Amino acid sequence: MSIQSSVVAAEGKFGDFGGSYVPEELLAVLSNIASEFEKCRKDPEFEKEFRYYLKEYVGRENPLTFAKNLTERCGGAKIYLKREDLNHTGAHKINNTIGQILLAKRMGAKRIIAETGAGQHGVATATVAALFGLPCTIYMGKYDTERQSLNVFRMELLGATVVPVEKGQGRLKDAVDVALQDLVENHANTYYLLGSAVGPHPYPTMVKYFQSVISEESKRQILEKEGKLPAAVLACVGGGSNAIGAFAHYIDEKNVRLIGVEPAEAASLAEGVPAVIHGFKCYALVDEHDNPKPTYSIAAGLDYPGVGPEHSYLKSIGREENVTVTGHEALEAFQTLSKVEGIIPALESSHAVAYAMKLAPTLPKDESIIVNLSGRGDKDVRQVYEMLKNK
Ligand SMILES: *Cc1c(COP(=O)(O)O)cnc(C)c1O
Repeated sequence: MSIQSSVVAAEGKFGDFGGSYVPEELLAVLSNIASEFEKCRKDPEFEKEFRYYLKEYVGRENPLTFAKNLTERCGGAKIYLKREDLNHTGAHKINNTIGQILLAKRMGAKRIIAETGAGQHGVATATVAALFGLPCTIYMGKYDTERQSLNVFRMELLGATVVPVEKGQGRLKDAVDVALQDLVENHANTYYLLGSAVGPHPYPTMVKYFQSVISEESKRQILEKEGKLPAAVLACVGGGSNAIGAFAHYIDEKNVRLIGVEPAEAASLAEGVPAVIHGFKCYALVDEHDNPKPTYSIAAGLDYPGVGPEHSYLKSIGREENVTVTGHEALEAFQTLSKVEGIIPALESSHAVAYAMKLAPTLPKDESIIVNLSGRGDKDVRQVYEMLKNK
């Protein structure tokens, strides 16, 4: 059984977006990963193993919860929440790290490396590296290691080595550069486990494949509950992995609106221009020299100046709608969902919830919308406490 929808990239191109804009030596390494991935996705044994860990370790399938109280409060369409927050480690990222580490194992990798910004992907990678007993090095901007010291400790508890990257601005971009350099030098025994639906081919295609389980489940679940497809599916967009997974099985369903919600403070799709960053082409927030601009979102996971190539393509053909929500609105939604449903959402996911609260009242009561609740908010409680206290 295939878990991907019919939009498949030819050599990693999504229209004019995507591709691999990388040095020759890296291209060879990436081509090898791409061909190994193609073998895996055709292999029923690989599929079986992937499904096994999703069920027994991640805890899938997770529910599609009808948010009755939130629906009554908003009026209009029924709001359903796809509960990625209930996964082991508290977010959707684990779907991808499980898939990629199984690939790494098949490729005979003896060592895992990854980049991380706020630390969420680093934690998800360190988790699966521990599960499969592989040594793991996480590159993280020095500035980020200082802001996110608890996540650094979490990764260390899980047995990973966290390397603070001092070069450049000591941010995510610099960590990506160092990780790619490591891959070029050590590809014979090392696998680079990338965290979102971004980067050069085959990462966007691969990450979508593993995250598509979200919409595979939600489509079956909504048909069981409502007997028809939703009017819209909403997801927050940072790099775009939870969103592309939440959209994948609806892309060919032309009557289902796909709505990507970005923070107004880092709106690559809504306000970016086509540019090549981090080895692929996408809508990006860049300065006059095509360098990624610094962004600031209250949700660390959405703080990225680019966006996945498939989202860029779906926007360019008018299939995906792109909207923005301010940090303030997300913070309100964070509190509302907590109060009325007893679910504390991640600040990232709160952006999607905030837009759902605006959209639902404009739609008839017999329609439904699905919000992908990409993660739980435990990680954000301290930050929200500080923000509310200092208001
Ligand atoms: C990392 C993260 C995101 C953003 O990443 P995408 O690749 O855009 O999905 C969103 N929500 C949560 C909870 C995250 O941890």
